Amino acid sequence: MEPDPPHRPSDAARGCPMPDPWRLRHTGYAPAEEGLREALCAVGNGYLVTRGAAPEAAAGGEHYPGTYLAGCYDRADSEVGGRVFTHEDLVNCPNWLPVTFRCEGAEWFTGPPVEQELELDLRQGVLTRRAVCVDGVGRRTRLVQRRIASQASPHLAALETVLTAENWSGRLEVRSALDGTVTNAGVPRYAGLADRHLTPLRQEACPDGELWLEVATGPGRRIALAARHRLRAGGRPVEAEVRAQARPGLVTQTLVLDVAPGVPVTVDKVVAVHTSHDPATGDPLEAARQLAAEAADFDRLLAEHALRWEQLWERLRIDADFPGLGPLHLNLFHLLQSYSEHSADLDVGIPARGLHGEAYRGHVFWDELFVLRVLNLRLPELARAVLRYRRRRLDAARRAARAEGRCGASYPWQSGSDGQEQSPQVHLNPLSGRWLPDHTHLQRHIGSAVAYNIWEYYRATGDLDFLAEAGAEPLLEIARYWASAATHDPGRDRWSIRGVLGPDEYHDAYPWADAPGLDDNAYTNVLASWVLARARDALRVLPERRRGELTERLALDAAEPERWQEIGRRLHVPFHDGVISQFDGYRRLAELDWETYRRRYPDLRRLDRILEAEGDTVNRYRASKQADVLMLWYLFSAGEVRDLLRRLGHPAGYELMRRTVSYYLDRTVHGSTLSSVVHAWVLTRCDRRASWRHFRDALTADLVDAQGGTTREGVHLGAMAGAADLLQRCYTGLELREDALWLDPQLPYALGSLDLDVRYRGHRDVRIRVDRHSVTVALGADAERPVRVGVRSTAVVLRPGEIHKFSL
Ligand code: BGC
Repeated sequence: MEPDPPHRPSDAARGCPMPDPWRLRHTGYAPAEEGLREALCAVGNGYLVTRGAAPEAAAGGEHYPGTYLAGCYDRADSEVGGRVFTHEDLVNCPNWLPVTFRCEGAEWFTGPPVEQELELDLRQGVLTRRAVCVDGVGRRTRLVQRRIASQASPHLAALETVLTAENWSGRLEVRSALDGTVTNAGVPRYAGLADRHLTPLRQEACPDGELWLEVATGPGRRIALAARHRLRAGGRPVEAEVRAQARPGLVTQTLVLDVAPGVPVTVDKVVAVHTSHDPATGDPLEAARQLAAEAADFDRLLAEHALRWEQLWERLRIDADFPGLGPLHLNLFHLLQSYSEHSADLDVGIPARGLHGEAYRGHVFWDELFVLRVLNLRLPELARAVLRYRRRRLDAARRAARAEGRCGASYPWQSGSDGQEQSPQVHLNPLSGRWLPDHTHLQRHIGSAVAYNIWEYYRATGDLDFLAEAGAEPLLEIARYWASAATHDPGRDRWSIRGVLGPDEYHDAYPWADAPGLDDNAYTNVLASWVLARARDALRVLPERRRGELTERLALDAAEPERWQEIGRRLHVPFHDGVISQFDGYRRLAELDWETYRRRYPDLRRLDRILEAEGDTVNRYRASKQADVLMLWYLFSAGEVRDLLRRLGHPAGYELMRRTVSYYLDRTVHGSTLSSVVHAWVLTRCDRRASWRHFRDALTADLVDAQGGTTREGVHLGAMAGAADLLQRCYTGLELREDALWLDPQLPYALGSLDLDVRYRGHRDVRIRVDRHSVTVALGADAERPVRVGVRSTAVVLRPGEIHKFSL
């Protein structure tokens, strides 16, 4: 391995896209960028997220003011090519934002302003917009708006608008609305499919300035919004004439008052949102109206909200001596806006694209695998809530396994409200205009991701109660599924898992076969072997009474775990050219003429679409969208992969890893943001500089919209969290094994030091500091038990209040 050059932060500082680590700023109006800015400037609290669209903006053109509530899905039928498909969408909920104004005799302001600055304060969770608007006759009005979605009180969102006439006086009209007539129109590829998910039920625009409306969405959910307004001029409450209007799904009120130049007029709009599915809620409309009426003014709400953010940042703190802290904070910010303590009681999963847009219809994928690795050590109660979402859908997964003719539980590749498979059956290639069959639901490895998450949560927290009451049953059922999916191949005397897809979605069929699916995807098989072993471990560690209950309930006899062991040791793992094959038969695929394709297409990330549009198929080639085999070294340490492969009868060591990494790296286009996370991880121990490049790509994937236009449709939470986890666990070499916390830092040259606090097995306060020469670990004084900490091969026992410095 090449030695690293010395640490030089100034190199890495060049081109940093977010110079202030706590503020994201956008100046001016950039039509092509507005959608991206709206996603990046979304405000939310895990219950709801609202995109950073201007309050006066309507959907269409550059803008898309979406608001999404966690777990609020609706199903609808659409026709594609004469066939009817049902799809479940995360519903674009009523828009609570609309606020606009006009000076007497002018048109309503619909933007864009002549000057504008957007600033997202990540520390406090406030989006501020400063703008200057000029009407047709040159009247200049200064506009400052601040908006929050309260992290302290999750059903409240608020928008403060301050208007100052600069060079005019006279009548000002300010119009505010709640709009339930919106549709799901955020993803151009879905145009033409069913997009209406809201039915207006009742609404009122009251003369006292209150607005409320209630709409219905599926299944049987009512969503209610209530808004109340407060008006001040020059800092003092003033009266205004109120004109109220209501029609089905839309309530509006206009405040009319006289203004003088330089005297700011402030309109506070505080909105309460409830649905009939909220815990502890009877009538959502009553709840929303009551909350809006009682809510404090904007400044007070802001103070409570900012305090909660301050506390959350304490819990998620990662201080690193490198110039990427801004993107890091942005990623963690969006993670906690998409899933927070306010999501935990809602029975919702983590949508891959946050609650920031409509990409992938707001579905939940395996991406939580990348997210929970961060949460396990920081906010384990959130990780547990995500696992409970899966636990509650165990019956749906059992049903799916039965439908496949198998036993156990088969979790859906795309999950939404009730755990039924939500993957689309067709998808559009925008390059060819063709709708194509979608086989991604064959990614059965999702089940192993659920099992892995359960086990890792248990390892990080030691929460045996959770394992016993909620985690073990899905884990055992997933193991059962793998055992029943495996078929014995007498020729090889090996077990095979056929007809699946690995993580690399480019390969969904053999080019020579009629049916979709591949055999013996190495990642799937090794993970299945791991799951089969962990299911046996789980049975071993369960308290006896619970083990008895579960084995009776699942009719698990002694022979079944024996069979798991037999299959788990003899699953087929294919090899070719001295590397692990992505799947059986991979060796028969052709090499792509990379040079020609790179010359012809500057961006190959959607190579699948390019080839399909050319009448070819990516299935013919050794070309991957994202890390597949390499996921093994992402989920497990090199030593663990070695042991897993040896258990399967394959000698494996550093050389195999190095060859396999380099082989697939040369053939991967990173068409998924997850790919950079995995590559950054696996390259740490063989090419630290390359690892750092991939880390930077993962870290800034959404900030710079690396996938070319996808972030506007929703952020990529897997990459956002995965990048943070690279700092938290990969570069520190943090591992949990032998009941100890081990560290083996591999700081890339651009990273001077790392400082973070983790929670480990009930210890709330384990402080870790890593630099080039040492690792320092401190245990909070109020810890109940000592903790074992090791660096490389030296371990010590830290008692409460102790600190230990290891030299490197
Ligand atoms: C990736 C999947 C991922 C999904 C949602 C796809 O592009 O291939 O691995 O789960 O996006 O983020």
